[in-house]
Amino acid sequence: MMPGMWSGGPTAPTGGPAARRVVLLGAPGSGKSTQAARLAASLGVPHIAVGDLLRAVVARRTALGREAATFMERGELVPDRLIRDVLIEGITPQVALDGYVLDGYPRSVEQATDTQAMGGPPRAVVHLWITDQEAVRRLAGRRYCPEGHVYHLEDAPSRFGLRCELDGSRLVVRPDDREEVVRDRLVLYHRRIDPLLNRYAREGLLVEVNATGEPEDVARRVLDELTAASGSP
Ligand code: AMP
Repeated sequence: MMPGMWSGGPTAPTGGPAARRVVLLGAPGSGKSTQAARLAASLGVPHIAVGDLLRAVVARRTALGREAATFMERGELVPDRLIRDVLIEGITPQVALDGYVLDGYPRSVEQATDTQAMGGPPRAVVHLWITDQEAVRRLAGRRYCPEGHVYHLEDAPSRFGLRCELDGSRLVVRPDDREEVVRDRLVLYHRRIDPLLNRYAREGLLVEVNATGEPEDVARRVLDELTAASGSP
């Protein structure tokens, strides 16, 4: 099968495990959101980003949104009972049947256990891995201008040093990109995600993809590994 043609097998009418439901997991700095959008476009399924669903609910200022906001503002995980309602709204029965690329869920073994909230068990779980050293290099090297233009000291430096090429303003480090903060975020990430990876590996769903390198190369690798995992040539 050609890369990009991964079908995940025939779609079961019940939306069973054959539906193209793909979960994407990745450390901070792994390029997860970019790759989720690209993979969804390649597979022709929606990209469901749980963070975006939550922000939309918060913006609507519903009771659910107001409650979720109190956790998000503190940088805490939103309780599972709220996430469940948000997912049920975002993953309609048709979406569950046709498939999706899910980004930002599950974040714990408890969430992974609730396959009903995901519209059924995933067909595959792609883990974009990079070394912690590379994650720190990517995140701690980012520089922002106040208008939101993003640079990287090594990968995409400004021609004007620490000034924005587009508006000349001074580039800054985002507080959560400071090296010591990145290292703390990575420790927390591993603590939460490693049991999840073990679980999916045991279930035979885990597809490990090296996320080092250019985004287009990583996107191709994701499709190739998914194709290999689906059992088709
Ligand atoms: P993100 O856009 O993925 O960084 O998510 C933004 C915020 O939404 C997080 O800081 C959490 O407060 C919340 N959130 C996103 N996904 C989940 C999840 N699976 N479980 C609980 N809270 C979540």
